Amino acid sequence: MSTLDDFKQVLKNAGILGAGGAGFPSFAKLAEGADILLINGAECEPLLYTDYMLMRDYLPLIVEGAQFVLKAANIDRCYICIKDHNCHLLGLVDEQELAQDVRIRHLPDAYPMGDEVSLICEATGRLVQPGHLPITQHVIVFNIETVLNIRNALVNGAPVTEKYLTINGDVDHAYVVKVPVGMRVSELFDSLGIRVPENDVVLDGGPSMGQMINPTTAVITKTTKSLLILPESIPAIVVKKRGPKDHLAIASSVCCQCSRCTDLCPRHALGYPLEPHKHVRVEAGVAEADPSMILSATLCCGCGICELGACCQYISPRAVIQHHKAILAKNRMRYVAPDDMNCMVREEHPYTAVSTARWKDYLGVTKYDKEAVFYPELKTARRVEIPLPLHIGAPSVPAVKEGDMVSKGQIIGNPGEGLSLPAHASLSGKVIFADNQKIIIEEVKE
Ligand code: SF4
Ligand code: SF4
Repeated sequence: MSTLDDFKQVLKNAGILGAGGAGFPSFAKLAEGADILLINGAECEPLLYTDYMLMRDYLPLIVEGAQFVLKAANIDRCYICIKDHNCHLLGLVDEQELAQDVRIRHLPDAYPMGDEVSLICEATGRLVQPGHLPITQHVIVFNIETVLNIRNALVNGAPVTEKYLTINGDVDHAYVVKVPVGMRVSELFDSLGIRVPENDVVLDGGPSMGQMINPTTAVITKTTKSLLILPESIPAIVVKKRGPKDHLAIASSVCCQCSRCTDLCPRHALGYPLEPHKHVRVEAGVAEADPSMILSATLCCGCGICELGACCQYISPRAVIQHHKAILAKNRMRYVAPDDMNCMVREEHPYTAVSTARWKDYLGVTKYDKEAVFYPELKTARRVEIPLPLHIGAPSVPAVKEGDMVSKGQIIGNPGEGLSLPAHASLSGKVIFADNQKIIIEEVKE
């Protein structure tokens, strides 16, 4: 691999994006000037075991992937960042050298340690200034699975056609499985004998930040880190089921402006000018009329501490801020830090962290946390539905049509204009549907 541009092209051709949930094309994160690579193995959301299992069974491959990145981007050193609890289970210690320039970095067992800004601050002592990218602090962050995908693209020439994910919650057994991208959730549940109980919901993602999905129609994407089955009566789901209008109505009627949500906001504790209680104070109509009042909404990482960890009046400042983010997006506005801004971590920062155990209690998921069994063999699917877009940026453009026969790994969508990635077939078979939204491939029986 001669240049960083060549390396980025390999990542792009393989369709690699942030597997931790963000979905940002990985090649676009690589830039000259980084001196630290952080591999995010914090696995911050409760009930998830995906990254833990990958670290347990594939650590040498992850280290190999990290070394490829170090060499290609001329980065000095790499830290694989893991929470204390998992370090202990994996028999790893802080600063342990796994290979040349690749070491372990312990993280406290706290939420939301996997948030990129918190992670960088904890692991390096550097603070990404509000609205800036990690590269401004000479840091690049990749998720554990992303680095494994990078390694597989470099060594095997393999594009991303498979996804590791945790199934956990209100189930008899929890699993970490490997499935084809685009597999139907219903087919996966059937193959494992899983039934969703009445009055339960299914989340794509963790209990704090995951989204409710319809398990009869949903498919697994390149960012699906978990499928959680949880009762709709627990706090984590009650707030998700409340509609945006109800959130806004409750916020505007019962907030006493105690500012506890701001005191416990992790981004605020890092010195960011984000004060959730002030967002709650801004009336919906005022925010619409003057979006310049709500610019700091774009500094929120969506962790939900202000909602279930801070407010005792069942208000969701997070939902209000999400509403404000939508107003800003509509007006193409975002927070821009002044040139001379020099944010400093607040003194109270160490005292505001929420332990993982307490966070599980706040969410109401402690009793649903089962240790998962790892099935590394690929689950077979009879049909896959590849969504376009699969990532942040411009969607891929279909490169196949109904009736075409395709092989696993073949490009079925070309990158669109600008920031974009190709899409690959995750199953060999016949294309039975293709438009700008999705491509469906079905297995062909001999
Ligand atoms: S914690 Fe709740 S009541 Fe207090 S300011 Fe925040 S939203 Fe209002
Ligand atoms: S969700 Fe709430 S606590 Fe989390 S960063 Fe946003 S405002 Fe702060």
